[in-house]
Amino acid sequence: MEKWTVGVFASIDAGLGVNLDVARDLGIKTIQLHTPSKKSRTPENAKLFLDKLNDYGIEVTCVFLGFEGESYASIQITAETVGFVPAATRQSRLAEAREISDFTKWLGVQAIGSHIGFVPHDKESEDYKAMVAAIQELCDYLKSNGQNLHLETGQEKAEALLEFLSDVQRDNIFINFDPANLILYGMGDPIGSLKKVGKYVRSVHCKDAKSTSGTPGVDWGCEVPFGQGEVNAELFLKTLKEIGFDGPLTIEREIPEEPERQKKEIQQALDLIESIKTKIS
Ligand code: MG
Repeated sequence: MEKWTVGVFASIDAGLGVNLDVARDLGIKTIQLHTPSKKSRTPENAKLFLDKLNDYGIEVTCVFLGFEGESYASIQITAETVGFVPAATRQSRLAEAREISDFTKWLGVQAIGSHIGFVPHDKESEDYKAMVAAIQELCDYLKSNGQNLHLETGQEKAEALLEFLSDVQRDNIFINFDPANLILYGMGDPIGSLKKVGKYVRSVHCKDAKSTSGTPGVDWGCEVPFGQGEVNAELFLKTLKEIGFDGPLTIEREIPEEPERQKKEIQQALDLIESIKTKIS
């Protein structure tokens, strides 16, 4: 794949990102796919979907896990509902993650992305140990399918994420770096954080945000179009170059309630990224 191919976060029948047709209309050649609903994850549907992607000339670079019951309504609700943190659903979600991994394999894709949830801060706690064990189990299953796990950034500071990666002790665990999430969750400066975790970065989201006027870490910041927030798009791409990242640049814009505006702002992000690429490459 060409260096820094522009992509978009998309879905086919459920979940985050834009509809696949939007990617096609915008001439985008790679997507990260939010996992399709359970009923769609069959070998037959994987084949149909692959045929459609071939028609569109689109390649899937990563499939993102998503589970029923997850909500990003507030930072507190995110902490309570997302990923493998809630103990009551941990085992059933691990089982579902294995099914998603199989579906991803049928698509011929070697990366699974995940918001695993807020990693507990107390490393001696049972909750922390249970998270490490859960992610080890997930990594081992993905490995058997020839896949890597890309952890979505945002809920932890860079240092905590590095410690967690080192505690998991698996060679197929990496990072999907989302600079806006660090701002939204109040978890530190995105550029400084990117330099710290650089060697683990295998995929990225081009997303932007402004920090909260309330309490960082308690109140959400605000997601804005790429290039219009506090990320500093040009410095973000320059830093990606500096750390040697040459994978796809996947635009993420989560305003599903306004599809026309979403499409327009993705087009603007595309244009911005292409102009920065020309300038700095
Ligand atoms: Mg993201």
